[in-house]
Parts: sequence; C-alpha cells; structure tokens
Amino acid sequence: MRLIRVAAAGLLLVSASVFAAEAAAPYTLLKGEWEQGGLLIGKAAPGSKLSFEGQTLKLSDDGRFVIGLDRDAKPEVELRITPPGGVAIVETHDVAKREWDVQALTGIEPKFVDPPAKVQKRIAAEQVIIKRARTRDTAIDDFATPFIWPAKGRISGVFGSQRVLNGKPKSPHYGVDVAVPVGTPLVAAAGGIVSLAEPDLYFTGGTVFIDHGHGLQSVMVHMSRLDVKVGDRIEQGQQVGLSGATGRVTGPHLHWGLYWFEQKVDAQKHTGPMPAN
Ligand SMILES: [Zn+2]
Repeated sequence: MRLIRVAAAGLLLVSASVFAAEAAAPYTLLKGEWEQGGLLIGKAAPGSKLSFEGQTLKLSDDGRFVIGLDRDAKPEVELRITPPGGVAIVETHDVAKREWDVQALTGIEPKFVDPPAKVQKRIAAEQVIIKRARTRDTAIDDFATPFIWPAKGRISGVFGSQRVLNGKPKSPHYGVDVAVPVGTPLVAAAGGIVSLAEPDLYFTGGTVFIDHGHGLQSVMVHMSRLDVKVGDRIEQGQQVGLSGATGRVTGPHLHWGLYWFEQKVDAQKHTGPMPAN
C-alpha cells in the first residue's frame, strides 16, 4: 500500500515515508483482504468522507463502511479518506490476483446455453429489475455483522469458477452452491430488507435479494418457494423460503452470492467454513 496525503487543492504535503511515521491510520480494517472477490469492512472516524475508485461510500453512524472487490478487480485500486477537519489521504492498494477453477457441465438444456430469440426480451426485462435492485445504497448497517450460511450442506460449486456448458464457455460462477434437496428451509445470512423477490426468473428461477446496506446484497436463487416480498425487513436466521431446482440448473441446490453494487464478491470467504451440521 502507498499513502499520499494531499490538501484540498491537491498539493502534496509530505512524502509517504514521513507521513507513515507521523500520522495515525485514517481507518481500521475490521475484516477482509485486498484480493479479487474480497469484501472489506472498515471503520473510520465518524464524519469522515470516503471514496473508493471515485465512488462515494456511505458511513454508518459509528464510522463503518464496506467495499467489495470484484472477481475480476484490477490489480490496483484507490481509496480516498478525508477525516473530519483533516486533509484527504489517498491510499493505493494492490489487489491480489486469484486463480479460478474451470468446470465443464454437460447435459444442460440447449435453451439455457443459447436462449432462443423469443426469450431475449424477457431476459432483458429481468436484467432491468435485477440492476435496479442491485444499485440500491441503503443506510442500514447489517452489512457489518458476521454472516451465517443460509443453508448447511456440501459445497458443490465455488465462487469464480468458469463454466463450460455443453462445450461453450459462459460467464463465471458468481456464487457458492450448496447441495440441498428441494424444500430445504433457507434463512437470511444477515438482517436486511428484501430488495427483489421473483418466483420465476429465466436463469435463476425463484430469486430473492436481501439488501444488507451500503450496497451489500445477498442473492439466493433456484428457490421453489418464496416466503418474503420486496420491502420486508428480515432478521438474521429468519426463513426466506425453500430451496429448489428452478431456472438454469442441473439439479437441486442453493446458489448463494454476495454483491457489492455490481461487484461480485466471494460469499464463502466472507462467511467462513461451513458448519459441520
Ligand atoms: Zn451456482
């Protein structure tokens, strides 16, 4: 990491080495790593102004904030912090590159590998709904609580893997798959507000998004039943619905993912090991 302290006018005041020796860190990193798919939770002095790659970050009343690093995050990113009454500090962070698995799947119905022209309009309409949900920036701070697994089971698919469907490379896998039978209760990984609840999206079938605040959302798909609706406030551990095998699937499972706005982050890394039972 390199640090540069600048005045409001952009004047360089001190060299990085002088600065490092003389000033306290402008924030504390509470969780996460600067790596592809990483989710960082930090705490700055309340009233600080933060921006990440030019995007203004919300701060909770006690100074907590969240940053997501996409699966394909670039090698270097910039965080700018202005403590209350202070000058801006610009941090440049290296983002560690990760290696991703390549997974070949066969036997997918052709309509899901290459959606027919007549469903393109439906898919486009669904993308609009999804994007609207994903760009929310809500002032609740559930994002900062430790997440729990929405269902327990064998992990059958990991974040970041590239799928080759019937021999055709597709977009990477942005969630973690948990092998659970149809009808398994799914619970909220953390508290939040339901931002999307759709029983039948083309690719993802029964789909629920939970907004945990500051751009962090969890996504559950392929559900067979939804027990929530958009706008519901739900608490950690509360049942959201039942798992299923709806949408583009080869069998029943929960696909669960985390998004920070439109950045895809690694839900498994953020949540930690799957509990034994
Ligand atoms: Zn999946």
